[in-house]
Amino acid sequence: MSPVWSSSLLRHLAALAMGGLVGWLYDHAVVGLLGGALALLGWHLVNLYRLDTWLRTGHIEAVPDGVGIWPPVFARIEYLRDKVRHERRRWRRLVRELRASAGAFPDGGVLLDEKREIVAHNIAAERLLGLRRLRDRGQRIENLLRHPDFIAYLHGNDHGPGVEVPAPVGGDNWLFCLLIPYGPHQSLLLVRDITEDVRLERTRRDFVANASHELRTPLTVISGYLDAMAGDEDLADLWYEPITDMRAQSQRMSQLLDDLLQLSRLESGARCSHERAVDMAGLLQTARREAMVTPGSPRQVEVEIGSDARVLGDAAEMQSVVTNLVSNAVRYTPAAGTIRICWNVDDEGGHLTVADSGIGIAEEDIPRVTERFYRTDRGRAYHAGGTGLGLAIVKHALRRHDAVLEIRSRIGEGSQFTCHFPPHRLAVSS
Ligand code: ADP
Repeated sequence: MSPVWSSSLLRHLAALAMGGLVGWLYDHAVVGLLGGALALLGWHLVNLYRLDTWLRTGHIEAVPDGVGIWPPVFARIEYLRDKVRHERRRWRRLVRELRASAGAFPDGGVLLDEKREIVAHNIAAERLLGLRRLRDRGQRIENLLRHPDFIAYLHGNDHGPGVEVPAPVGGDNWLFCLLIPYGPHQSLLLVRDITEDVRLERTRRDFVANASHELRTPLTVISGYLDAMAGDEDLADLWYEPITDMRAQSQRMSQLLDDLLQLSRLESGARCSHERAVDMAGLLQTARREAMVTPGSPRQVEVEIGSDARVLGDAAEMQSVVTNLVSNAVRYTPAAGTIRICWNVDDEGGHLTVADSGIGIAEEDIPRVTERFYRTDRGRAYHAGGTGLGLAIVKHALRRHDAVLEIRSRIGEGSQFTCHFPPHRLAVSS
């Protein structure tokens, strides 16, 4: 027991003993004892009253003084109140600082609850999304940002790479939105202004498309003359080889321009509509026939059709995907190798696979082969024809169909390119 409590206990006993003694002197020891107890009770009541008044008024200067056990109790309460006040001040400062830093953030941040209703947002979100603090708190975010791509992203299970959408305010502005889940059911929507990036990208695409278009006319003229010269029987023999080379190169340039134009069309287009159903089995059989007649093609080209499901999208783009993958397999696989082209469907969607037993791709090159003009060294050594744009075209055509390309490969063992289509892109005949 602490000394304060033991001395207080002694004082209480002494008070009671004193009361008892006085009572005993008057032959009423019990009454005396009772009087002592009442006096103690009264004293405690007075102190409790002072404590209550002090706590109610909250004036720290008005700490009551007392004797016995009460001063340390008052001091302890005062200390705790002081501590709480200090903590409260600290939290307030912290919240103010957090608010100020969130306000200074150039990107918008919107806190959403489990119903996707706005809980709070920073100043940048007001500027980028046109939110108003009092008006929009508690509103569902999809009522304010209604673009279909954003709605699909918001309700999708995968909040991976984010989505680019036109801004709801500010004319031709573009936003990048990324949803970061946190806590049990909440999420933070990060919004970044990417207007400048989109503008630059558009300029780059327009430039490539225009340049390709402008180059096409002179190239057609040159090709025409070369064809005419190649067919001229009076042409001296020494010109035969250079003209054959020039024709091959002009054909290559023409193919390059076609691919560049196709790529810029794919890049600038939105998602492909679901209106048409593409017969994958037919496409694969055609690709096999074409592969078989390509000079130097592997002798074994197998097709496995595991489903008659069709892909909802654009037939020309699907054909381009299949043709590019199969022509790569043909070019990068020796004649003794094999090529397997498969189409099957499971719960996760449709899967188009083109696998070969060719030269393969080094692990470090795999993430880069879909970049424009990226070629592996081994690929370059083996390369005959090809524009370096084939896989970039495949990637963009797939993206327009909500599909993704998966590449597996090992040097010397072969490669497997698989296009994964989500179930909503399939038309399965019942
Ligand atoms: P290219 O016209 O050069 O084939 P692509 O974009 O189609 O351009 O392919 C990019 C690069 O990826 C190729 O240059 C090659 O190095 C590599 N590549 C593509 N397909 C295969 C394959 N089936 N086997 C080995 N390497 C491949």
